[in-house]
Amino acid sequence: MNERSLIDNILNGIVVYETVRIYDGKPLAVKEHYKRLINSLSYLGREDEVSLNDFEKEIERNISFDRVKIYAIVSDKVELYSVGENILTKRIESIKIDISNVRHADPSSIPPNFKSLSRADVFLARQNKGDNYDVILLGQKGQVCEGSFSNVFLIKDGKVITPSLESGILEGITRTFVIDMLKESGYTVEEKIVEVKELFYADEIFLTHTSMGIVPVNYLGKFSLKTEISEKLSRMFEEYLHAKIG
Ligand code: PLP
Repeated sequence: MNERSLIDNILNGIVVYETVRIYDGKPLAVKEHYKRLINSLSYLGREDEVSLNDFEKEIERNISFDRVKIYAIVSDKVELYSVGENILTKRIESIKIDISNVRHADPSSIPPNFKSLSRADVFLARQNKGDNYDVILLGQKGQVCEGSFSNVFLIKDGKVITPSLESGILEGITRTFVIDMLKESGYTVEEKIVEVKELFYADEIFLTHTSMGIVPVNYLGKFSLKTEISEKLSRMFEEYLHAKIG
């Protein structure tokens, strides 16, 4: 695709996307990401226009990076565009999050699994997160939903709690892996409607997203949090992924 037609397509179309993590030259969860991209395209009635092979070619093109972002630009045609990035060198010492002043769109207006650059709720929250690593969007009823690029978990009295899919969240691929890993390791995981005050009473909070796996949170606003268990889980998760990838 030349630059002119790329810009034309973006201006006249809509973009859905996925981020795939690459571990030591091996992409992780390609089929899951492909399936989610196709699901995003299905909201536009364009799910038949990108094959797994097309998707894999974009990953292969960027295999030397830590992660690849694959964009499907939906205009007259659906065209793929990808960008590789190295992010693992950018580890941040202290992770601060806060509650976003942007509310999550109601699932009846924008489906939570529609992963599109045109999601104004997620993008406004991301743009206005200031010096926070991420900000948590609350739903229309005040329930905890998710970060602007992450899912949220809390630990209370040894139990791991995370907003249920009914809360109106993206079904994060890392979230699913983390829940599986925790259950396999004997942890109790509760998926439920989470009230915002539960975040403030939590012993620990961690975020999950493709690029970084489990991210322990040090501060919720000005409140400091312990990170002992989250750090242990974060290390466990890296090993879990390495074993998964073989
Ligand atoms: N929630 C939102 C709104 C996101 O944009 C993302 C990732 O970009 C996530 C959660 C985390 O999803 P995943 O674990 O699949 O990266």
